[in-house]
Amino acid sequence: SNSDKYAVFGNPIKQSKSPVIHAAFAEQCAQDMQYRAVRVELDAFERSVRNFFEGGGAGLNITVPFKQQAFALADECSQRAQRAGAVNTLYLTDEGQLYGDNTDGVGLVRDMVANLGWTLQGQRILVLGAGGAVRGVLEPLLREKPRSLTIVNRTAEKARELVAEFAELGAIDGGGYELLADRQFDLVVNATSASLSGEMPDLPGSLLTARSCCYDMVYGAEPTVFMRWAALNTAWAVADGLGMLVEQAAESFYRWRRVRPATGPVINQLRQALAAA
Ligand code: NDP
Repeated sequence: SNSDKYAVFGNPIKQSKSPVIHAAFAEQCAQDMQYRAVRVELDAFERSVRNFFEGGGAGLNITVPFKQQAFALADECSQRAQRAGAVNTLYLTDEGQLYGDNTDGVGLVRDMVANLGWTLQGQRILVLGAGGAVRGVLEPLLREKPRSLTIVNRTAEKARELVAEFAELGAIDGGGYELLADRQFDLVVNATSASLSGEMPDLPGSLLTARSCCYDMVYGAEPTVFMRWAALNTAWAVADGLGMLVEQAAESFYRWRRVRPATGPVINQLRQALAAA
């Protein structure tokens, strides 16, 4: 068919929900496009991207483990992608330049602010983890003008490196988990992959107040260990990362198509599919 071609490149890719999400957006917005998931060999990323666009491809999402390589490959990047050093969205500009953006951070912020109704401005934010996901979300989080942003990570040095890199954007500190003794936060974002293996970062119960919100970037049919911990420690509100996933996809879709899909119905659709699986 002549419809515009999109894809997500990753490895592994089987678990990706992006094709379902973009198919729902396309139907809702009456866009003539196709979107598929492609497993790219670890040594074939650059070649695959070039082939895709030379073959008339319109846009790509990039996921684990290629986001840094996509950043390196792009001719031009958004400021937030430059800060992150990682790209999850690629397309060609009118001038034929390969343009890279990173929509993970706006996805997280939009889910928390627009969907969940949480406030970030003036709040004390704690981010757990210092991997690729954290790099992507720090600038958008700091743009919301929190009172403070603290990053803690199992490998403390990685948290300290991020603090140094992002210091000019706001009040930011960080290090190892021992920093958390006797401190309280209004918002805790779990951006570690610990939940994937049913593990839990080592957190003191005294971390939360009765007004604290807790967000796990991981999602699934059941609440994660971190979400259960938050509920037990009487967090005000607890959420998983499904909304972030749909919101980052919506921002990519908007970059490509200049149409903004409604995300609520798609989040509900995925939630129901998760529960039924
Ligand atoms: P990385 O592999 O880059 O980083 C993993 C991080 O988790 C590191 O900081 C690591 O610490 C930490 N970690 C892993 N296991 C443990 C543990 N048992 N205890 C404490 N810390 C631990 O992953 P990403 O940053 O790319 O992704 C993080 C998570 O976010 C993933 O689960 C991913 O699925 C999710 N994600 C969700 C998105 C969404 O749209 N909902 C978008 C992007 C990511 P150390 O440095 O010490 O190894």
